Amino acid sequence: MQGQMMKTPLLITEIMRFAGRQYGDTEVVSVTGENPLHRCVYKDVIRRAHQVANVLHTLGLEKGDRVATLAWNDFRHLELYYGVSCAGYVLHTVNPRLFFEQLLYIFNHAEDRVLFFDPVFLPLVEKLSDQLPKVEAYVILSSEDKMPQTPLPSIKCYETLLHEASEDYEWPALAEDTASALCYTSGTTGHPKGVLYDHRSTVLHAYGSCHRNAMGLGRRDTVLPVVPMFHANAWGTPYSAFISGAKMVLPGPKMGDGKTLQALIEGEGVTVALGVPTVWLALLSYLEETGTTVSSLERTVVGGAACPLSVMKEFQDKHGVYTHHGWGMTEMSPLGSLNTLSKPMESFKDSELDVIRAKQGQAPFGVEMKIVDDDGQELPWDGEAFGDLKVRGWWVCDSYFRSEGSDDAFDADGWFSTGDVATIDPEGNLGITDRTKDVIKSGGEWISSIELENLAVSHPDVLEAAVIGVSHQKWGERPLLVIVPNEGDIPDKMTILGLFKGKVADFWIPDDLVFVDEIPHTATGKVSKIELREQFVDYRLDLPQK
Ligand code: AMP
Repeated sequence: MQGQMMKTPLLITEIMRFAGRQYGDTEVVSVTGENPLHRCVYKDVIRRAHQVANVLHTLGLEKGDRVATLAWNDFRHLELYYGVSCAGYVLHTVNPRLFFEQLLYIFNHAEDRVLFFDPVFLPLVEKLSDQLPKVEAYVILSSEDKMPQTPLPSIKCYETLLHEASEDYEWPALAEDTASALCYTSGTTGHPKGVLYDHRSTVLHAYGSCHRNAMGLGRRDTVLPVVPMFHANAWGTPYSAFISGAKMVLPGPKMGDGKTLQALIEGEGVTVALGVPTVWLALLSYLEETGTTVSSLERTVVGGAACPLSVMKEFQDKHGVYTHHGWGMTEMSPLGSLNTLSKPMESFKDSELDVIRAKQGQAPFGVEMKIVDDDGQELPWDGEAFGDLKVRGWWVCDSYFRSEGSDDAFDADGWFSTGDVATIDPEGNLGITDRTKDVIKSGGEWISSIELENLAVSHPDVLEAAVIGVSHQKWGERPLLVIVPNEGDIPDKMTILGLFKGKVADFWIPDDLVFVDEIPHTATGKVSKIELREQFVDYRLDLPQK
């Protein structure tokens, strides 16, 4: 027997309609290349999204065509999020930090027909354009008076196009599985892979991430996504803010700038800020140097890479800000898990809480997870067993865009192999220990580089740390600690190595450490262990062998 409830499709268009009706006067504050503090409200974003849709129609786009963006977080990018997807086209957000060859591959693989970009990316687009045969129109996200000079053909000014376009547009009635957005994730090997989101997955993800056990956004919040709108949809905040009526503060090109972030948080009353650990390191060191604080900020959501406990503690102890440690992937829209405390945990001792908070938390309703051994057998949720982490759920992708059947990450039972190695404890808390490809195996036993890195950065003289496996005659591999020291004195090697004693198994303790000026990062701001391993490929351990 079928239920007799309405089958209203889950559409991003409905998010937009709802937000316009319910929270139309809620502010969106943006830093742009041309204006340090642009202000508008949801209603303006929606009105201009109508104009975006008319512009795309006039350009001759067909439903399902890809529309690319190379842009920071600001109101114009937000308008494109709604205008493109709700009109039935696919918003392809491109990460400008990728290598030139990867960018070429991505644009051509996606066959984008239009490219919207911030003026700051003009030199990059000029270099790319010769080799982008499918792109028919280039639109600079600028007003007419600020348009830069360029020899690019088919160049258009965004504000002029919008000015000429009607504010009336009849949004099409789309099926809920219509593709809405595309984001490529650069794996460790091979070409980047496209994750093709749809309206349904996006609405469910936004709904799920507003849950109190997840990001818990509400109308009393002001949210600052310091995670780029070109990386996993800024963790879905353009949608979850609109669902919850939260004021948005968009930092534009000033993502990693502690001074701007502090001013935005204080000036705009930001209550929730989201970003990767390196962003918060920049903010915290700015606060320390200037003796300033972030008085309105209640919580940060930190993910994308393991968040050191020292970052959480500094936020809490010096600024009264609570940190939720989360884990996710582009393939998961991206929310996979988030750490929130239960009532009984509030009375735990600090040392017990530290163990829990260093983990990546529980999966929200909508995401299922399991860990398996090398034979695919499920491992227990005992917080001890390490295994390959697999997930499935409403907002997890089920294949890569135009992957021609080469998706060995997806199994027949509908699980996706995340490529992460993890433990899950009896309360369902996920503990990411490594990327599968970064796992260090010493004498057949796994060593968690993430746990070692976390301990290393707890030393006040350590700015950043990474642990990699280097080859070893007897054990196959042994861990090597690589450290960027804080400005000033280089810390004593033995003191740092002594940090691990009694905190991890003896055989986990790195055999040596080296100081470097810089650790290489990927285009999404993560430590590039591949490059680091290449850098230390000839490294021979010079301390007595274990
Ligand atoms: P991306 O799709 O670029 O966002 O990368 C996803 C990957 O980032 C995951 O598969 C993890 O390896 C890593 N990651 C994300 N969040 C965390 C976290 N909190 N701790 C450790 N690794 C993380």
